[in-house]
Parts: sequence; structure tokens; C-alpha cells
Amino acid sequence: MRTVKAYAAQDSKAPIAATTISRRDLKEHDVQVEILYCGICHSDIHTARNEWGGSTIYPVVPGHEIVGTVKAVGNGVKRFKVGETVGVGVMVDTCRTCNNCKSDYEQYCENGMTGTYNAQERDGSGMITMGGYSAEIVTDENYVLRVNETDNLAGVAPLLCAGITTYSPLKFADVKAGMKVAVVGLGGLGHMAVKFAVAFGAEVTVISTSESKVKEASKLGAHHFIYAKDAAAVKSVDSTFDVVLDAISADHDYTPYLNLLKLHGKLLVVGLPEHQPKVLPFSLIKNRRSIIGSGIGSIKETQEMLDFCHENKIFADVETISADKINEAYERMIKGDIKYRFVIDMSTL
Ligand code: NAP
Ligand code: ZN
Ligand code: ZN
Repeated sequence: MRTVKAYAAQDSKAPIAATTISRRDLKEHDVQVEILYCGICHSDIHTARNEWGGSTIYPVVPGHEIVGTVKAVGNGVKRFKVGETVGVGVMVDTCRTCNNCKSDYEQYCENGMTGTYNAQERDGSGMITMGGYSAEIVTDENYVLRVNETDNLAGVAPLLCAGITTYSPLKFADVKAGMKVAVVGLGGLGHMAVKFAVAFGAEVTVISTSESKVKEASKLGAHHFIYAKDAAAVKSVDSTFDVVLDAISADHDYTPYLNLLKLHGKLLVVGLPEHQPKVLPFSLIKNRRSIIGSGIGSIKETQEMLDFCHENKIFADVETISADKINEAYERMIKGDIKYRFVIDMSTL
């Protein structure tokens, strides 16, 4: 065991504060990663503040948008070498034997995937996983991603969650040229959804509760912008979209967004607010609309997404902060005051 620096929440009301944690000695297939950057996902806030039905185990070290350098590898590691740049995302293990695991859908492991933080390790050690707000992480090589990018690694880190979480459902919905896509909730996930939908050739509309984001939406490549609180403007695009991607972090109803879908349109839900949303069945039946939930992506698809971003020069738009600014970053995210992802520079630990 090694003791490493980290930032943790000790309970749901406590700020994220400096601490130390233990990282395991390398097992045969383990990769030891020195963390360079870690993005701040809204899921970190939901977890640190215990907003998902009391599921948080304290102390919790959040962070699942990790980019770093391989420092050491276990004896059996074949896929990575010391000195390489790698990523770790939202999941660090799965059962590897169920149907979903065997068909590259291991994020939907029938026995539950092991999250990068706030999850029980599968090795029987009883240890709880600790995330990327730390100097290093030790992870099985099968859940480590290759990062071919050399520049702007801070802009790569959010791809490990915000990137794959939006890439995967847009691919599943087969978004392509000729399709109209709306993105609601222009935050960390939403801004990546815009970039991907544009890259896939769709006509993209941002629907945002922040009127001030109109200029940035266009800079991100969106073709149209609608202020979500302008009911008449929202109504004017009723039944016009093939796909609406919902990346809203706060409680809201699905019905107004369902109403935007044309025949066979799909509401892709990735946002995970605390409370249950309302859905009006009449809005679902009209146009035979569907609601599709989506959780991150498999390791295979995450690698495909990272390679796609490398080829197409797609990065997250980030504001890099020092570790002592995490609590301030949380407050600013809740107010929507971020364009579009905070990333912690781990050299400030
Ligand atoms: P974020 O950066 O904080 O962005 C959330 C956005 O939601 C805000 O920028 C804002 O966009 C919108 N919003 C906030 N309050 C709102 C309100 N009261 N009404 C309507 N819109 C509101 O969050 P994120 O990191 O992108 O995460 C978004 C959600 O996805 C979170 O719930 C997170 O837990 C979840 N998530 C899910 C997965 C998955 O696998 N499915 C993975 C990662 C994260 P506008 O200003 O444009 O309105
Ligand atoms: Zn996340
Ligand atoms: Zn499984």
C-alpha cells in the first residue's frame, strides 16, 4: 500500500478537503497512473452531496475523468508501458462473464459495474474505490484507455465521462447528416453532445435555460439556439426533431422535451437529477416517441471515441483550476457559471 494525496468529502455537508488515501500494491494486471488532470463531472457533486438515494459511502474521493502517465505496471500487463499517456473513466471493473460484459456492453454489467469511486472493489479486499481527485490511481489494464493526444491533455480528460456519455447515445440513435438534433442543458455533457452531433453532420439546436450561452452555442458549432424559458419559441419547434439529448442535472419534466420530437423521435436521457421526472403518456404516444436512457459507454466504445476526437481535433472546452478551488467550482457549476468543464490540475495537489 502507498499513501497518496487526495481530496475527499467526509460527509454530505462537508466541503471537499485535502486528505490522504491508500492505493493498493500492483497486482499482475494493474497499471499505476500518475494523474495529470481530472475533470469535474456533475455526478461528482451528486455523489459528494449524497443526492442519489443515500448511496454515498464516506469518505468519498470523486473524479472519473482522469488523464495521466503510466508510472509502473504489474508483471502481466501487456497493453501499456511506463511513460505512456492514458485515461481512466467512470468504470474500473465489471464481472467480465455475463452476456453484457461478453458483448462489449460491460457498462451495463448484469452484476453491476464497479465505479471509479464510491464502489466496492470486486477482489474481496473490502476496499472502496477512490477516484481521480488524487495524485495517482491503480487500475486493471482492461479498464485503462489509450490517449494518443500529446497536447491539451486538460481538454482530453472530460472525454472520459462527458465525452463518451454523449457519444454513445448519439451513435446508438445513428445521428447523421440530414437529422435534426436538439441538445438541452448546455453543461459539460451538453457541450460535448453539440460537438459530436455537429461532427456527425446533424443540424443542431441548443435549448438552454441560460440566455447568455447563445454566442458560445454557435462557437461550439450549433446552428440554432432557443431560450428554454421562451415558451413560444420552444412551441414553435414542436414535433420537429429526430433526437433530443437531455443532459440536464437539475429536476425537470420530460414532457416539454418529448413534445419536440417528430415521428419516431428519440429522447436520449443522460442527465441524472435527484428526483423522478414527470412524463405525460399522451406526449409519448404522439409520433410514437421513445425515451432512451444511456449510461457512459463500453471500454471499446470509449477508445473509439477517444480516437475519433484525436482524428477530428475534438476537445472539451475547459477551465483549469487548482485543487483548492474544487468547492468553488461546485458552486459555480450549480449556478451554471462554467464554460464548459472544470478540470483540476493535479500538480497543485
Ligand atoms: P453540468 O455541467 O453542471 O451541466 C448541467 C446543465 O443542466 C447546466 O449547464 C444547465 O444548462 C442545465 N440546468 C441546470 N439547472 C437546470 C434547471 N434547473 N433547469 C433546466 N436546466 C438546468 O452537468 P454535467 O456534468 O454535464 O452532468 C449533467 C447530468 O448528467 C448530471 O445529472 C450528471 O450526473 C449526469 N451524468 C450522467 C451520466 C450517464 O452515464 N448517464 C454520465 C455523466 C453525468 P443550461 O444553462 O444550458 O440550461
Ligand atoms: Zn461523469
Ligand atoms: Zn458483467
